[in-house]
Amino acid sequence: MSDTLELAKKLISLKSVTPEDAGCQEVLSGILEPVGFKCRTLREGMYPTFNLLALHSADPQASFEGDPALLKSNPGPYDASGLKAPGPFTIFLGHTDVVGPGDTAAWTSDPFDPVIRDGMLYGRGAADMKSSDAAMTIALRNFVTRHPDYKGTVGLLMTSNEEGDAVGGIPYVAEWLKKEKLYPQYCIVGEPSSSGKFGDTIKIGRRGSMTAHITINGKQGHVAYPHQIDNAAHKGAQLIAALVEHHLDDGNEDFPPSSFNVTNFNAGMGAENVAPGTCQIMCNWRFNPLQTPVKLQRMMEKKMEQLGIYATVRYVVNGLPFISSRDGLLVNAMRDAVIANTGVTPDLNTLGGTSDGRFIAPLGTEVVEFGPINATIHQVNENVCAADLDTLTAIYEQVLEKLHL
Ligand SMILES: [Zn+2]
Repeated sequence: MSDTLELAKKLISLKSVTPEDAGCQEVLSGILEPVGFKCRTLREGMYPTFNLLALHSADPQASFEGDPALLKSNPGPYDASGLKAPGPFTIFLGHTDVVGPGDTAAWTSDPFDPVIRDGMLYGRGAADMKSSDAAMTIALRNFVTRHPDYKGTVGLLMTSNEEGDAVGGIPYVAEWLKKEKLYPQYCIVGEPSSSGKFGDTIKIGRRGSMTAHITINGKQGHVAYPHQIDNAAHKGAQLIAALVEHHLDDGNEDFPPSSFNVTNFNAGMGAENVAPGTCQIMCNWRFNPLQTPVKLQRMMEKKMEQLGIYATVRYVVNGLPFISSRDGLLVNAMRDAVIANTGVTPDLNTLGGTSDGRFIAPLGTEVVEFGPINATIHQVNENVCAADLDTLTAIYEQVLEKLHL
């Protein structure tokens, strides 16, 4: 069995449902530490989230231990200990947590007992994203062993809270990296990006995401006395219609048009004759760089004003859009490696949901996402083609060679 496949199976067997890590990160440090990686676990307060940061450099200027004197003079949640990561600095980003298996009886085999049937590796996390975690780790191990004189710094960053709310996860680590002045130039996210064929998609950026929680106030009353009521559900429907009809933009070369969707609508108490006095709406925008959260919020305020609707709105910005240059070193290295190893020419796009890459991109880091086929993620009988694991490892290793030799 290949090292990557063996490691992927080991990780799948550990029941790391968000935000549990279940010992996955220890298994990964167990592979990287013996070849000289400095591994540390980063945790925010009492949160159950585990983050692993493993760094390696052949450069004598590198320091990942921290200066004890600086450590002493800078007590607090951050080390601020003068770590040094000489460039180019590339980091692989992944998550060890998985979504729950749901109804385990619906699975053909135990979701936490990895098995290979007809060349496919089955198990929760097989595609999202323990196979990639294994491939990234083995690629890093192979790379530093085969090229002891490589340039710069390479690393692995893992969180156990990507599928959940990310509390204590990569947003915390990004803050820590900022305090330590450790700014990766390149970040490779191993999320399953391929759709129909392995190698067909590299994500070179992501749209932004903003959610609005809206409470509309009217006046409750008996439907037989319409002049005494102010129906909040009607107002909600008007507001939704206005937002659905509003044309945001046409997108651009890299991004599809921004979109709006209602995700929840709640009003009334179930009584046939009572008009609701309040109405709750939850909605979300996926937006490209032609929009900003403030621009969207202004648009929303204007709609409410035009319709004479009084509402309280709470906005949650889940992520800002980001894009890595199509002609940049990282995108090119990834595209070349994918073509060389799969024979498939990947489409470069920004489609799909957000990923933890959105927390690293604001550090000025170029981010790309590449991984196996995502057709079965979060589903019963999640699986990935077992043979793709070694190809994926070779792709990651080749990208490191292009960036660091
Ligand atoms: Zn994932």
